[in-house]
Amino acid sequence: MKMSETVRELSLSGESVLRYTLIRKRIKNMYLRVKPDGTVEVTANALILPETADAFVRSKTPFILKRLKDAEKSRIETEDSGISDGGCFYFLGEKKTIRVEKDAREQVFFGDSEVLIRMPDPADEKRRTLLFERALLRRIKEIYLQMLAEIHPMFRRFNIPYPTVRFRAMKSRYGSCTMARKTITLNTRMIGSPAESIEYVVAHELAHFVVADHSTRFYQVVESVMPDWRARKKGLKIR
Ligand SMILES: [Zn+2]
Repeated sequence: MKMSETVRELSLSGESVLRYTLIRKRIKNMYLRVKPDGTVEVTANALILPETADAFVRSKTPFILKRLKDAEKSRIETEDSGISDGGCFYFLGEKKTIRVEKDAREQVFFGDSEVLIRMPDPADEKRRTLLFERALLRRIKEIYLQMLAEIHPMFRRFNIPYPTVRFRAMKSRYGSCTMARKTITLNTRMIGSPAESIEYVVAHELAHFVVADHSTRFYQVVESVMPDWRARKKGLKIR
């Protein structure tokens, strides 16, 4: 939380409490926003007293409660789908929020908890989705290649080739291995899974260079490089 933000609490009727974040910005009017994740924000300039902001929020209570209810409903419905401001998606096992800002230049930033999409026309849904998907794919490629670079040395004693990686969005499999072409294919749609689970898929595909099928011997190879593979496998998800 930035210095210019404070969290305030209002007691409503009964035992309910309404918590909101008061954000200070150089703006003329005070405005209120109920974010899709259910947090309430009030933006106001530094001259407006916190009590005035409280009164403002209090006057909007019916509106806020309605929006909170709607937000809750739409969160359940659009979880992990909409590429729009306030939308969420899973990335390496963590939920990230999408922020869309107007800017002359198109840019996408991957932060720790947010992905920021900057674009001239934030209302352009097609463009927004394209920018997001393109940046996401770029990140996925970097991450998978980095994982391969870290996991391949664990197979040193098996003397396997260093494969080419293909990236594909697949519905029903996490990866595959084409031994003859020294290629492994990794599913881009498993990026929501925790990193250690995706690492298991990389190790699994590399193990196929040692044993082609899914025999006991295959899993012995997997286990020898990744003893906790069972726990890792459990976290796998395809979005
Ligand atoms: Zn396999």
